Amino acid sequence: MSVHTVLGPVQVPALGFTAMHEHLFMLSVGLYDRWPHLLDREAAVSDVSAKVSNAMSLGIRTIVDMTTPNMGRDVALLSEVARRTGAHIVAATGAHPHEPLPLYLRGVVGDASGGIDPDRHAELFVHDILVGMDGTDIRAGIIKTGSDPIVDESNSRLLQGAARAHLRTGVPISTHTHAGNQVGLQQQDVFAEAGVDLRSVIIGHCGDSSDVGYLKALADRGSVLGMDRFGYTMPGRPAVPIAERVSIVAELCRDGYADRMVLSSDSVSWSDVISANYFAMHLPDWNLDFLPETVLGLLAAAGVNESDLHQMTTVTPSRILCPVTVS
Ligand SMILES: [Zn+2]
Repeated sequence: MSVHTVLGPVQVPALGFTAMHEHLFMLSVGLYDRWPHLLDREAAVSDVSAKVSNAMSLGIRTIVDMTTPNMGRDVALLSEVARRTGAHIVAATGAHPHEPLPLYLRGVVGDASGGIDPDRHAELFVHDILVGMDGTDIRAGIIKTGSDPIVDESNSRLLQGAARAHLRTGVPISTHTHAGNQVGLQQQDVFAEAGVDLRSVIIGHCGDSSDVGYLKALADRGSVLGMDRFGYTMPGRPAVPIAERVSIVAELCRDGYADRMVLSSDSVSWSDVISANYFAMHLPDWNLDFLPETVLGLLAAAGVNESDLHQMTTVTPSRILCPVTVS
């Protein structure tokens, strides 16, 4: 059983402690194709490599980078960080609902599709997974999609594209949601309708909800809850306080849901739109270290036992990252 990382297939036992939703680089899409002199790639790689190495010294072995092509994914940068640090890095295909899509994906004028075309999406995602990303043979290991603030007629086509790519490749789906609007349940409806086994789906940003009933409803349908924003405190945006995030995970563990949660921070290690100063001033805990260094201790103090911690950081990530067999 192996998982596609940016340096090739890795056998499951080697994955270890996995941060399931992070962003190592977020770059302005297309900018550096036109003006490559604007990006000091060596500086960016060495900065992120130092951060990844530090997280590894705290126990992390695998990082799932959820940066989609329309968020500025750059597999050459990711693979260089993997080479320098020894971290396993899984890259994503897919599309973020908030970022612009290539016009091509909106369908060709005169075609009957009349908007975002799920098959065109699926075709690109499948190429990333089976052939390689960005003209390389580096294969994507996860499909990211999303809906925010609700699932509607238009953005449900993104979900359908992800579903079709999953059904053809077996690679898992991981979503962006608006947790306050309980969007995860709507996403599950679209995926289930498309024939996806919901056990292959991570409903993301579940840690942004304090509604345990909602979270259990998602998990009861088989999906994995992405408790993936530990340390997220973006000014001006409401965020569930860390103590509450921890107590909700502890409560779900007590109620037997440890096998349906994964942990992460959704942190951004290097961005061309957020300055290092801003990170230091406003987002002191939003980084790769916070989960291994602080959150695991807080969960243990809240009563989560070793076995449940291992389940959420290692066993469930390995299970869901393994592509399922496709017929
Ligand atoms: Zn994210």
